[in-house]
This record gives sequence, C-alpha cells and structure tokens, in this order.
Amino acid sequence: MKTAVVTGGASGIGLGIAERLRADGLHVATLDLNPSADDDFAYRADVSDPEQIAAALTDVRAKLGPVTVLVNAAGMEKYRRFQNLSFEEWKQIIDVNLHGVFHMVQAVLPDMMSAEWGRVVNISSSSTHSGQPFMSAYVAAKSGLNGLTKSLALELGPHGITVNAVPPGFIDTPMLRRSEGKGLLGGTVEEHIQRTPVRRVGTPADIAAACSFLISEDAGYITGQILGVNGGRNT
Ligand code: NAP
Repeated sequence: MKTAVVTGGASGIGLGIAERLRADGLHVATLDLNPSADDDFAYRADVSDPEQIAAALTDVRAKLGPVTVLVNAAGMEKYRRFQNLSFEEWKQIIDVNLHGVFHMVQAVLPDMMSAEWGRVVNISSSSTHSGQPFMSAYVAAKSGLNGLTKSLALELGPHGITVNAVPPGFIDTPMLRRSEGKGLLGGTVEEHIQRTPVRRVGTPADIAAACSFLISEDAGYITGQILGVNGGRNT
C-alpha cells in the first residue's frame, strides 16, 4: 500500500484530495496549520518550516512507511495593490506557496529515489494563466510553482518520479468563500457561475479526481504537465 502526504489537507481542496486518495486505497497523512482532530494521521506543520516538516515526516514514516506520493495543496493568498504590498507580505506569500513546495519535495525525495517511483502533484492556480490584479505575490509564487514542476519533471523522470501541476479555477472552498465575503471576487460566486462555460462552481472532488489520475500507474507517461481544472474558464 502506497503512502501519500497531502499538505493543506485539513480544508478545502487538500481535504478533498486526502479523502479521495484514502478511498483509492492509499495511506494518507496530512500536514496543515490546524490539523483535523478526527484524523489519526493529521500533523500540525507549517510548510514554510523545514524542521516542522521533518518532525512530521519522521512520524509518518514510522507509522505508514516511506512516502512516495506528495500532493502540495497548502496555500495562502493575499489581495493587495502592488504599491501597498510590503516586502514582508511578498516574502510570506512566496514562502508558503513556493518555498513550502521546495521544502516538501526535498523532504520526501529520498523515499521516492529509494523506491525508484514517485508522484508529485502541485496545486498551483488558474490565476497563472493570465495574471490577476492585486494578487502579484500569489500569482508570482504559483507561476514559479508551475516552472518548478516542469524542471523537476525533467530532472526526476529518469528516477521513475513524475511531477505535474493542477491549477484550479474557482473551486468552492473556504478560501473562495472568504474572498467572496470580502467582495474580492469581482461578483458573487453565483454571478461567476453564469460566466463559467460548464455553468457551475468547481468542487474539491473535481481537483481530487485529477490528482487521483495523475498519481496512478496509468499516468506514468504524463509528467511536467499543467492540467487546468477550471470548468473552461481558462483554456
Ligand atoms: P483553503 O480552504 O484555505 O485550504 C488551504 C489549507 O492550507 C488550509 O487548511 C490552510 O490552513 C493551509 N495552509 C495555509 N498555509 C499553510 C502553511 N504555511 N502550512 C501548512 N498549511 C497551510 O483553500 P483551498 O481553496 O482549498 O486552496 C487549496 C490550494 O488550492 C491552495 O494552494 C490554493 O492557492 C489553491 N487554489 C484554490 C483555488 C480555489 O478556487 N479555491 C483556486 C486556485 C488555487 P489555515 O486555514 O489554518 O490557514
């Protein structure tokens, strides 16, 4: 039985991915800032802190074995006019959304290298397709994540490890609803649905289905790809 680690697995998309991978028959451990109390393999760890990651992974390996599947879903956004964005805020967003993935991949890579098999899926963002005003740090971090995905795919392919990205668009999660509540979406979710080709909001299960495929044996020839899951909002 394979062991997967899902970051951001206590909420929204990460939670949906963790549930799906468990249903697929994998051991799943989650890392999050506020882990779920109901989950035996939910760890409190900030992905921007390599020491917290290492502590969590030591326990994961002892209980569930080596980690050969990694889904990086932890993320945070920041809406701020660029001229009002402090360098501290910029660094925090890059730290969580991009450096967090650096730390996670480095932490699990020895297990994947030993197994000569691995799957990494990075949850980026549909905002990387065309940019997004007032989200420069977030879009820069997520665009960096797409680039990291492509480079790692080339570097790790010879070791049996695939690396892909899923940029979600408009998925009904606490993050999306927080943005709606603050009036930051440029309309309500309902109004956006009318502008979405498939005429609905996405769900964590939509992203989880893509991840489930990308980590499967069937997807072994797919690497370095950016698979948009956005209801046709970005093509
Ligand atoms: P969410 O419901 O807010 O879930 C994100 C999770 O990540 C939360 O549990 C959050 O913890 C956790 N997290 C934040 N910073 C962390 C850190 N430093 N270390 C560990 N965990 C951390 O948001 P979501 O919508 O599911 O987003 C999941 C991913 O999809 C994110 O990477 C996001 O950027 C991306 N995404 C989402 C959408 C969308 O439409 N929803 C669109 C594009 C991209 P706390 O809640 O405790 O802070």
